Amino acid sequence: MKHVLTKIVACVAMAIFASLLCASVAYAQVPAPKNGNNYIVVIDPGHGGVDGGATKTFNAITLKEKTINLKIALSLQRKLMEFGGVEVYLTRASDINPTIDERVQIAADYNADLFISVHINSAVNGNGTSPTGFEIYVPQTGNYNAYTATFGYDIASGIQRYLSFTGLTNRGIKSKEISGEYFDGYYYPTGELADFYGIIRGARYAGITGMIVEHAFISTEADFNLLCDDSFLAELGYADALGIAEVLGLSLRSQVADQYQVTESYKSMTLNNAVLGSTTGNTIFTSWAASNNNTLANAASIRSFITSSTYQNHKQLDKLPVELAYSNCVYQFMKRIVGDPVMGRQDTSVIDLMIGLWNINGRTYPSEVYSTKGAPDIEAFCQIIYMVATSEGVRPDLVFCQAMKETGWLRFTGSVSVEQCNFAGMGASGNAGCVFSCVQEGLLAQVQHLKYYGSTEPLYNDNVDPRWNAVSTRWPRGCAPTIPDLSNRWSTTSNYGQAIVTMFDRLYAVNL
Ligand SMILES: [Zn+2]
Repeated sequence: MKHVLTKIVACVAMAIFASLLCASVAYAQVPAPKNGNNYIVVIDPGHGGVDGGATKTFNAITLKEKTINLKIALSLQRKLMEFGGVEVYLTRASDINPTIDERVQIAADYNADLFISVHINSAVNGNGTSPTGFEIYVPQTGNYNAYTATFGYDIASGIQRYLSFTGLTNRGIKSKEISGEYFDGYYYPTGELADFYGIIRGARYAGITGMIVEHAFISTEADFNLLCDDSFLAELGYADALGIAEVLGLSLRSQVADQYQVTESYKSMTLNNAVLGSTTGNTIFTSWAASNNNTLANAASIRSFITSSTYQNHKQLDKLPVELAYSNCVYQFMKRIVGDPVMGRQDTSVIDLMIGLWNINGRTYPSEVYSTKGAPDIEAFCQIIYMVATSEGVRPDLVFCQAMKETGWLRFTGSVSVEQCNFAGMGASGNAGCVFSCVQEGLLAQVQHLKYYGSTEPLYNDNVDPRWNAVSTRWPRGCAPTIPDLSNRWSTTSNYGQAIVTMFDRLYAVNL
């Protein structure tokens, strides 16, 4: 079954594409995590319980802000947790209504670095057709806990950048000063007037960077119609998460562990004294986890510990080729992958190498067909490869070389035709093969099929791979963590994977 790419795919893809085009989005100095290890982000779905927030009915459909806020917040949490170096908590995960003070206290109890309150706007005097779009309220500039204003503005800039990709009108980053009745807390201890919104003001008193994201106008029919669509609400949460992750400089957890595969049987096994059998071991793990990168390259002490007789005797793991990785507070056993892995991150210079190898090879790019399918030239084609491969954590060089091998450098000499946008012979053994609507969809399907074989991680985009279910009846997920493992699986040829690896030699010999 074939799907059209959804808005979420487009959003994530556009976002990655955009960061590719303007690689140097500059943010001010981002403070280190308060606890010295992970950033703590507390998400606050506004309203709840008896407080429905803004409510509106159009065309006999009624939406309540509290419900929408929770859906966006859950999607934001889910997406942000795909990144390493961050812990994400909610002030409410059900239909309850903590007070403003209680919400701030929850953030304080978690020692939050960031406190993001998720809301939907409503215009009292709106006429149903305006205003539209999103706006973000941040702490106003000032001396009292001044970093909340600078950090808040940076985070809001990231969120703003990604929310813009959803097509909503960008109403900007704003702050609001208190006015009206005097009360305790009207002035900060520095004598400055406080922030207007209780969430932001309370967080600032607690030394936490707080902000309110007003995602769209429930009172405006165009925005309202978008808010009726759960996939759009998920997209809003994704946008918030990607913006936060970009400003904090977080990497996807799958990329942190790119050369290793979590062994299913030990997945999510938390190491503690009981497992390690010694407090010494636990200390080593704790200090390693707190070190700069938490990458396996820095894990020499862990490796030596694993091979030590203390550990081996205790866990009798001597027959398992394991390494340890740390992500999201869980120590994981990873099976070392021998050979070129299917999964992995590469920097954008691989795009130039792919274009370079194409040019050396001297074939004619089928521009006539692919200019109507989103990739008018080889440059666009290679950028899409990079974008979709990276969006799922699959190696872009693998996707390129496999596509060139399968299509005979886009000449389509086999049973698949150029119009099908099927670059890896998907579903083509003995018949015509899968058909995709555009180059991006065809490449994403190839990437997701590779991810089926190469990893047990979930897909980050909606599944457009029409062969996903078919392959699952024959092979388990993650059965081919290395490219040579694709032989006899993706293809019946016994040197299929090795032939692709051999093409890398030419790719990386390209002189730029
Ligand atoms: Zn609200």
